[in-house]
Amino acid sequence: MERFHLVCRACRKSRKFQLALERCSCGGSFVVEYDLEQVQNTLSKESLLERPSTMWRYWELLPVRDSSNIVSLGEGWTPLVRLHRAEKALSVAKLWVKREEQNPTGSFKSRGFSAAVSIAKEYGVSKVAVNSNGNAASALAAYAAYAGMEAYVFVPQDCPGLIVEECVGYGAHTVLVYGLIHDAGKIIQDGKAEQGWHHVGTLKEPGRAEGKKTMGLELAEQLAWKLPDVIVYPTGGGSGVIGMWNAFRQLKELGMAHGDLPRFVSVQEAGCQPLVDAVQAGRFAEQNSDVTSAPTGMRVPNPPDGDWLLSILRETNGTAVAVSGEEIRNASIHLGKLGISSSPEGAATWAGFCRLREQGWIRPHDEVVLFNTSHAMKYMHWPVKNVPIVKNYADWVTHPRRM
Ligand SMILES: *Cc1c(COP(=O)(O)O)cnc(C)c1O
Ligand SMILES: [Zn+2]
Repeated sequence: MERFHLVCRACRKSRKFQLALERCSCGGSFVVEYDLEQVQNTLSKESLLERPSTMWRYWELLPVRDSSNIVSLGEGWTPLVRLHRAEKALSVAKLWVKREEQNPTGSFKSRGFSAAVSIAKEYGVSKVAVNSNGNAASALAAYAAYAGMEAYVFVPQDCPGLIVEECVGYGAHTVLVYGLIHDAGKIIQDGKAEQGWHHVGTLKEPGRAEGKKTMGLELAEQLAWKLPDVIVYPTGGGSGVIGMWNAFRQLKELGMAHGDLPRFVSVQEAGCQPLVDAVQAGRFAEQNSDVTSAPTGMRVPNPPDGDWLLSILRETNGTAVAVSGEEIRNASIHLGKLGISSSPEGAATWAGFCRLREQGWIRPHDEVVLFNTSHAMKYMHWPVKNVPIVKNYADWVTHPRRM
């Protein structure tokens, strides 16, 4: 039996692992499951002590068959920094920030793309494309360049300028798109057959959620295998929530982690808050209008697996919180004074944490982890020059400067 395969969440039908992640015939989404007996032959708390400080220390739980296909720039094993002063000030048992901005491309998207590009390499892919709010685009650009693949990245026209330059710097075909992340996704959908693109958008393929799973594996290991009570995570497409939930589930099945699953808190910026609305309404719906929040990784009005995200928030007794742009700016100043520079998404987790602590939802005995998912510097103001801007696929195909 292969070490990993796909299983439908809804009907439990399993199928062979594959490059693209289509839905099951029943409409359910597939999850990568592992033959845990095989995994246990080599993975243990002790064997981990000898391994490199990258996310590939957990290779048994990542869907790459041949280690020579691993495309790694040194991602993962990021610091987990305890905020002692804030614990006292806000009376909470333990508070950490996971410093994901220290990944090779300045955000945790490095993890997902290290996995996704490795899988793509295993399947002989040469052209990869992604729609993104920025960090996924620059991560794909970097990993594709390292692997010798051609990258095509499509980002909304208000994407932070430095992130656009980062993509250009890695040699990716970089294009701005009028509209939001899903408008950018439509270009790939419309062009992928003709262009031969492998679509690495959120939950279009198995690698990104599996790569992000390593945040959960790593967190457990860094906390000596005792899971925290609460995880506060800035949520957009949601592959991080899905990935970490899988991580904890798999670690518990392996008998490596103990304690209840952490309560997942999804933080979103007011103005694009489909998960917050879903928690309130008790059911998920795409947010199809009035997207007014800033261009950050949280701005995803229609995450592809919203129902699944809602069910994870429920199952773990978690919740979702919307914070305003002003709360995010203040939170960033506050974290700065604690010695932590944060991206808007990371700052949003601080704002969400403070709100839930005030309301008593986070209790004095809780142990809480915040995720600073990206580097503050990537969001500094920077005007983009010489990058084409398009409306749709037809526009892109005929654009004189698209190369
Ligand atoms: C992509 C992104 C997010 C959202 O992550 P998901 O796992 O897709 O929900 C949050 N913060 C930053 C900085 C991002 O780039
Ligand atoms: Zn099914």
